Amino acid sequence: MSAINRVHAARVWGDSASQLQIVTRRISTISAMFTLVATVLNPSTHWALIVVMSVIYVIYNTALSWRRSKPQLGELMVNLALCAGLTIVGAVYSNVLYHLLLLRMVLKVGRDRAMRMAVAVSFVYLAANMIKVDSVAAAFLLETIYNVIGFAVLSFTAVYMHNVMETQMRNEGQIAELMRQNAHHYQMAHTDGLTGLLNHRAYLEKTADLPQYVLLIVDIDHFKKLNDTYGHLFGDQVLTTIGNIIKMSIRNKDMAFRYGGEEFALVLPGTSLDLGLKIAERLRYQVANCEFFHNSEQVKVTISIGVSRKNPSVACQDAFREADSALYRAKRQGRNQCAVF
Ligand code: GH3
Ligand code: MG
Ligand code: MG
Repeated sequence: MSAINRVHAARVWGDSASQLQIVTRRISTISAMFTLVATVLNPSTHWALIVVMSVIYVIYNTALSWRRSKPQLGELMVNLALCAGLTIVGAVYSNVLYHLLLLRMVLKVGRDRAMRMAVAVSFVYLAANMIKVDSVAAAFLLETIYNVIGFAVLSFTAVYMHNVMETQMRNEGQIAELMRQNAHHYQMAHTDGLTGLLNHRAYLEKTADLPQYVLLIVDIDHFKKLNDTYGHLFGDQVLTTIGNIIKMSIRNKDMAFRYGGEEFALVLPGTSLDLGLKIAERLRYQVANCEFFHNSEQVKVTISIGVSRKNPSVACQDAFREADSALYRAKRQGRNQCAVF
């Protein structure tokens, strides 16, 4: 799973510690079922109470799993009470439930309160064992020592797992943030700020390995005069509007670039020269018929376009030179027109 996917999964299902708690909750439900089955197969004095409490344990935890709710402290307290009840009435395997519960509690509260949790669980466990019916002194002592050691080992394991997961989450967050920043910087470095089209650098990178396409070089006619007459702010508006017209008139597979000051390059893959010329002509027509206004005065803006075809045998620069030379022919012939190399 990629870092972004993992971060996404963590956002949907909660962090890794919560996921592990949910898994542990399911395992403890299965353990309670074992207690239940063992009691039914080998009924002890208080078998009815054991069955009732195990069934409550199973239903309660299954319902929580079903709702996929994040583990809460209240839920852990209810489970701890059920564990104590099961111990008191002498249910087998109930100590397994304490272990699993302790694991969940430590994962929930984290490193700082882990020891307190272990002590609380040990205390409940010991108290329940002391008032447990039918307990045998020697067996009780051994079992107690065994379980207290188990609680300690488990607490340390859970704290360690919690720390590992926290570090992992932090790293994943940092990686995702770096990837986001990287993508943002890449986009900034390849986008023209004024028109939002791809820029000259992007043109060089994206056409470098493209074997064949039709190239359109678009140049605004007498743009310097427009700037001189109406100001650079108006000139910028014209550039933005023409940029938008270009964006709207190209297909998904085409690419549009602001090549330089008032020059645009359109790269049309999988296109014949005839179709390229038609697209160029449509673009020229759209700009020539677009109404530009400076204050309330209508201003005529036109473009000239040079068209060439890049084949596998033609170098990128040659294709550009050819489109450029066609563009100059269009300019010489009177502007507001398209020319094919
Ligand atoms: P031609 O029809 O032969 O192309 O004439 P032209 O005036 O369009 O060409 P020329 O190369 O002489 O002038 C281009 C002008 O474009 C000069 C420059 O001031 C202007 N220009 C370049 N970049 C920008 C920009 O970002 N904003 C504005 N407003 N003007 C720009
Ligand atoms: Mg120019
Ligand atoms: Mg020009």
